[in-house]
Amino acid sequence: MVAAKPEPDFTKKKEMVHSPLLTYFSVITLLSTCPPFVILLWYTMVHQDGSILNTFNFLKENGIEGFVNIWPRPTAIAWKIIACYALFEAALQLWLPGKRVEGPISPTGNKPVYKANGVLAYVVTLVTYIGLWWFGIFNPTVVYDHLGEIYSALIFGSLIFCVFLYIKGHVAPSSTDSGSSGNIIFDFYWGMELYPRIGKNFDIKVFTNCRFGMMSWAVLAVTYCIKQYETNGKVSDSMLVNTVLMLVYITKFFWWEAGYWNTMDIAHDRAGFYICWGCLVWVPSIYTSPGMYLVNHPVNLGPQLAISILIAGILCIYINYDCDRQRQEFRRTNGKSLVWGKAPSKIVASYTTTKGETKTSLLLTSGWWGLARHFHYVPEIMSAFFWTVPALFDNCLPYFYVAFLTILLLDRAKRDDDRCRSKYGKYWKTYCTKVPYRVIPGIY
Ligand code: NDP
Repeated sequence: MVAAKPEPDFTKKKEMVHSPLLTYFSVITLLSTCPPFVILLWYTMVHQDGSILNTFNFLKENGIEGFVNIWPRPTAIAWKIIACYALFEAALQLWLPGKRVEGPISPTGNKPVYKANGVLAYVVTLVTYIGLWWFGIFNPTVVYDHLGEIYSALIFGSLIFCVFLYIKGHVAPSSTDSGSSGNIIFDFYWGMELYPRIGKNFDIKVFTNCRFGMMSWAVLAVTYCIKQYETNGKVSDSMLVNTVLMLVYITKFFWWEAGYWNTMDIAHDRAGFYICWGCLVWVPSIYTSPGMYLVNHPVNLGPQLAISILIAGILCIYINYDCDRQRQEFRRTNGKSLVWGKAPSKIVASYTTTKGETKTSLLLTSGWWGLARHFHYVPEIMSAFFWTVPALFDNCLPYFYVAFLTILLLDRAKRDDDRCRSKYGKYWKTYCTKVPYRVIPGIY
C-alpha cells in the first residue's frame, strides 16, 4: 500500500448513523465510562465476591475517594508482564511463517496483504505459556494476582497508544485509506487509518485485535483455570466447561483469522479508541470476565449438566462459524459454492467506489443469510451465554458480557445495514424485501 495525504471527508458521513447529538453523547460517555468500568468490574469480581450490591455499598460509604483507592496503580511487574507478552506476540506475528493472503479492496482501491500465521501463533503462545507453568519457570497465578494493576496499566498505555494512532493518522498514514472527519473527538474515537502499519509488514490492527486482544482472551482463560487449580487443588466442572468453550471459540477465531480480515472490524472500522482500545483493554477484561468470576466460585454442575452445556455451546460456536464460512465461500467462489446442498440464491449488487468506479458484489440470500440479514449474531450471543451459565445465577455480574454483546451486536447490525444501504442503494432494498428480518427470524 502506498502512503498518501488523507482525503478530508473520508470519515465524515459514515459515522453519523445515529443523530449527531446521540453520536456525541454516546462517544463522550463511552470514552469517560469504559476505563473506570473495567476497574470496577475487576474489583467486584475479585474483591467483592461478584456482588454489585457490595461494591455499590462500598462506593456509597467511601465515595470518590474510595473509588480512587481501589483503582490499582500500574506497577513495574504489570508493565513487565504486558511488555513481555506484547513483544512475544509481535515477534510471532512478524516472524512465524504463513500463507500470503489478500484482504478485501478498500474504498480507495487498496488491497492489504497479510501473513496468515494466526493458528501457529496461537499454538506457540498456549504451549509456551502452559510449558512455562509446567516446568516451574513462570506461574500464571502471578498474572491473576496482579490483574488489577495489569488492567490499570493497559487502560493508560492503550490511551497513549490511541493518541499515537491519531498523530500517525495525521502525519504519517500508511495508505490512502485514511482521513479526518474534521472533528478531533471522532478522529480519536473512530480512528483515522483503515490499515495502519509499522514499516511495510507489521499490521497494527492485526496486532491489537487478533494477536494482543483475542490471544489475551485465551491466555487469561488458561490463567483462571490454573489459579483455581493452584488455590483449591482441583478444577471445578463449571470452570472446565467455561474454559473449554472459550478456547473452542478462540481456536475457531484463529482458524478463521484470514476470514476475520474481511469483516467490519478490519475492512470498515478504522484504528482508533473504538476498535483498538476495545481490543487492548475491553477484550482482556470484560470478555474474559465469566472465567474471572468462576475462579472464586467453583460451582459443581455434575456431569450431566456440564456435558449438556458443553454440547450446546459447541453447537452455537459451530453455527456461528458456519454462517461466516458460508458467506465467505460464497464470495470466494463468486457465488458458485453450494449452500445447504443447493445452488445459492443471490443478488448481484453494484456500487460506486469513492474514486467513481462502478463495481459489483454478490449478496447471498439463502442458507443462514436467508434467515435474517445478521442471523450469525444469534449463535454468537448464545455461545457467550453457554460459557457463562456454568456460573449459575447467584450473581448477575458474570452475565454482563452477554448483555454487552447483545447491545453491541444489535447496534452493529443497524450500523452495517445503514452502511450497506448507502453502499448498495436499491439492491440492498431488494435484499431487505427478500430477507425482511435484521437479526432474529420472525421477530426483529
Ligand atoms: P460480517 O462478517 O457479517 O460482515 C458484514 C459485511 O458482509 C457487510 O458489511 C457486507 O460487506 C457483507 N454482507 C452483508 N450481507 C451479505 C450477504 N447477504 N451476502 C454476502 N455478503 C454480505 O460482520 P461482522 O464483522 O459483524 O461479523 C463477523 C464475525 O465476528 C461474526 O461471527 C460475528 O458474530 C463476530 N463478531 C464478534 C464480536 C464480539 O465482540 N464477540 C463483535 C463483532 C463481530 P460488503 O461491503 O463486503 O458487501
